[in-house]
Amino acid sequence: MMNSGLFTARWIMPAAGPPMRDACLAVEGGRIVSVQSVRGRVSGATDFGEAIILPGLINAHTHLELTGLAGRVPYRGSFIGWLESLIRAVIDEQDYARFISAGLSQSLATGVTVVGDIGIGQPAIQAWRQGGIHTIGFLEVLGMGHRSTAPRDRSTKTAEALLVGTPPTDDTRRILRVGISPHAPYTTDPAIYRRAVDLANRLQRPLCTHLAETRAELQFLSDGTGPFRDFLERYGLWDDTFKPPGDSPIEYANRLGLLKNRCLLVHANYVSNNDLDLLARTSCSIVYCPRSHHFFHHEPHRFGEMIRLGINVCLGTDSLASNDSLSILDELRFVHATNPAVDPARLLHMATRAGAVALGLETQLGQLTPGLRADFVALPLEQPKTTDPFGDLLHCNLSPIAVFLSGKQIYGMYKS
Ligand SMILES: [Zn+2]
Repeated sequence: MMNSGLFTARWIMPAAGPPMRDACLAVEGGRIVSVQSVRGRVSGATDFGEAIILPGLINAHTHLELTGLAGRVPYRGSFIGWLESLIRAVIDEQDYARFISAGLSQSLATGVTVVGDIGIGQPAIQAWRQGGIHTIGFLEVLGMGHRSTAPRDRSTKTAEALLVGTPPTDDTRRILRVGISPHAPYTTDPAIYRRAVDLANRLQRPLCTHLAETRAELQFLSDGTGPFRDFLERYGLWDDTFKPPGDSPIEYANRLGLLKNRCLLVHANYVSNNDLDLLARTSCSIVYCPRSHHFFHHEPHRFGEMIRLGINVCLGTDSLASNDSLSILDELRFVHATNPAVDPARLLHMATRAGAVALGLETQLGQLTPGLRADFVALPLEQPKTTDPFGDLLHCNLSPIAVFLSGKQIYGMYKS
């Protein structure tokens, strides 16, 4: 049968229990049938030898359309200064699709099999459709104050037309779901947020927003002043009809109806204890983008407390305009190096199962357990015969030798 077979390696990390030594993954019709430890060689198996088999990694937040801006938008101490450099580094429309395709290929080469990607308009949908990995694509919408100055390709009207013209889910070859992402509270006014929430509800589409990213955002929502007010005035986007809600970003999102949905909240870098209590009562997920967070010199992220409160926290790379790679393995290694007390099994969970939950894919993928899609990565061990596969995973610098989607090899030169 197509997409069936046995796969063995020194270690299998199912992300649904402890690592298994000398183990075998059995696949039938693209789905996992069993994962178990075995004695001796398994006849007919593809043996990766001194390697780890782990679930395909999930990058829950990126902007692949910015892939071509790698290293071109330096941070000089001001988030808004960085944002303005990003706006100046205009990308030609015909480059959008090319950059997204390049980003999808780069992701695959690092073992990422699912991305949550923010994109703009039809070119993004086209590129997602042609890519080689599962994609939850979010069409970005924004607009503040004067509607006429909001870019047409990022209006809710355009997004609605595109969403209506795209099937809610296209899972035939790979999973492609297209949803909507109102950008952030400082670029998106309440009316647009409400329309986006309504669209996501009505059309049953995934919803995502950037939230509580900077202290300046807190100030802007609190009293309408500060660097974001200056930014909007400079670009002619400020409108006196915007009334600062006087809330924290999380409370504001709650009042706009975002937290009633399984909304993906990107960043949540600046949250109070009250915010955390509020989030813990919702089914929203938080995307923590560790290296991008570090790039902007943010205060320590409260992901550990969030997890202890039962909030689902997954990982994202953000774009290459604020990061060095699109690799979730690199994120894991960075978090481990900077927070060595975090349980490595928890880190692997954040990179796999938590991402699947955040993107609404947990019944399909995210762990190596029977019934799920056989999406997996084979990673060579730096120290053969190691008894500490997590140590190897988190300290070595190696890249996957093979990546499989539904039991079929889609990346790597590996031949059994
Ligand atoms: Zn982002």
